[in-house]
Amino acid sequence: MTEETRNCCPHCHLPLVRWQNPPLVSWNGEYQYVCFNDDCPYFVRGWQWMKDKFNVTASYRYRLEPETGDSGPLPVWSRDAMRDNILSDEDGMHV
Ligand SMILES: [Zn+2]
Repeated sequence: MTEETRNCCPHCHLPLVRWQNPPLVSWNGEYQYVCFNDDCPYFVRGWQWMKDKFNVTASYRYRLEPETGDSGPLPVWSRDAMRDNILSDEDGMHV
């Protein structure tokens, strides 16, 4: 498999990291690209949005499906949530 063009987050413009799909979800493929930048505006304003809409302490990160090009929110309940699934062969981000 050849290295794909590196994808960047459209919100903070930092490289997305490869993130392994949890086993029980319906997304295609083995992994997706996710922005794990804690300063990403998408992530930062998500806290307030979730608080206003659902009165919960949670946010979401930008997620891109490499197979379909589909993007959307990946819900997280803390800054450290979901980090265990990061595939560590990416050098773009120190976690
Ligand atoms: Zn971002």
